[in-house]
Amino acid sequence: MNETASLRARAEIDLAALRANVRALRARASGAQLMAVVKSDAYGHGAVPCAAAALEAGATWLGTATPQEALALRAAGIGGRVMCWLWTPGGPWREAVEADIDVSVSGMWALDEVVAAATEAGIPARVQLKADTGLGRGGCQPADWPELVSAARTAEAAGTLRITGLWSHFACADEPGHPSIEAQLGVFRDMVAYAEKEGVEPEVRHIANSPALLTVPESHFDLVRTGIAMYGISPSPELGTPADFGLRPVMTLSASVALVKQVPPGHGISYGHHYTTSAETTLALVPVGYADGVPRHASGKGPVLLAGRRRTIAGRVAMDQFVVDLGGDTPEPGAEAVLFGPGDRGEPTAEDWAEAAGTIAYEIVTRIGQRVPRVHLHGAPDRG
Ligand SMILES: *Cc1c(COP(=O)(O)O)cnc(C)c1O
Repeated sequence: MNETASLRARAEIDLAALRANVRALRARASGAQLMAVVKSDAYGHGAVPCAAAALEAGATWLGTATPQEALALRAAGIGGRVMCWLWTPGGPWREAVEADIDVSVSGMWALDEVVAAATEAGIPARVQLKADTGLGRGGCQPADWPELVSAARTAEAAGTLRITGLWSHFACADEPGHPSIEAQLGVFRDMVAYAEKEGVEPEVRHIANSPALLTVPESHFDLVRTGIAMYGISPSPELGTPADFGLRPVMTLSASVALVKQVPPGHGISYGHHYTTSAETTLALVPVGYADGVPRHASGKGPVLLAGRRRTIAGRVAMDQFVVDLGGDTPEPGAEAVLFGPGDRGEPTAEDWAEAAGTIAYEIVTRIGQRVPRVHLHGAPDRG
């Protein structure tokens, strides 16, 4: 039994696996730098320890969605280049500039705000211009690109900012051969070429996320931004398993069984009685629920390793607990129930949970709630 077994539930984070994943991904994109995407608390794995481990393993950039996430890394003493891309008007531009964070700009309102903040701070901002090459979400439309590039160049010439990057994001990189991938690469090359013709000298041009890193080598440019693959999860089951890419899942979610009891046949289980025992049997109460990020959509379907076998949740997932029908097995209270992990002890994976809940593995790990302590293992760097 390990030392955290007395916890109700825990998400063990294997930082040695994360470092090995970073090294494997760097080897796959050896011409590019690697950005470790640690938004949303590193997809639920803990932003600060994961950022530190990724830098140790050779990542040179960190990426977050919000500026608050980027500032929190700096407040924790994390170095390296940090970029954030999800801004709203009135955001902490000045704090970001002063904290040496690269900021993404998709439109004129953002450029105006960062210019004002950099002028006030008396420090040139590091700005990365984001192009919408077809995702249809963030980024500057090709039609608006000349105005944005021209205004950014004017501010650069005045010394208010430096255009450090030109970048974009894919819509369908997880569907190999999807025609939008080539189309977006073409638009990206054109928008980069236009900016460079206007005098922009970016340090980094980048468009690749994990699926593009793994399957579209011509998308690597100067920098690859990887999130899910670094956490050892395949971007999509259709692309392959983590092992196919030399990756190992980083998070193991487990709980300590809270109660084991015998019940008669015909006993309804959990809210709504969507499961009924077919014979006299034993039940285990597993003390995690949808408040902990166990998807309620996986009621009656979610898999769990308990008492040496894979089982399926009986009935509804409640806010704080669910029940497993053990079919007569009698583990002790405190026995370990493993919801997901790397899979090599026979436990389910985050992908298995994604399938059971009708979602993607990204959502499974990212939604694990704050009530579940993260236990970071193997934090000391493995030299050599
Ligand atoms: C989240 C995110 C990524 C990382 O995507 P993965 O598929 O997890 O590698 C990269 N770039 C941007 C802009 C993102 O928002």
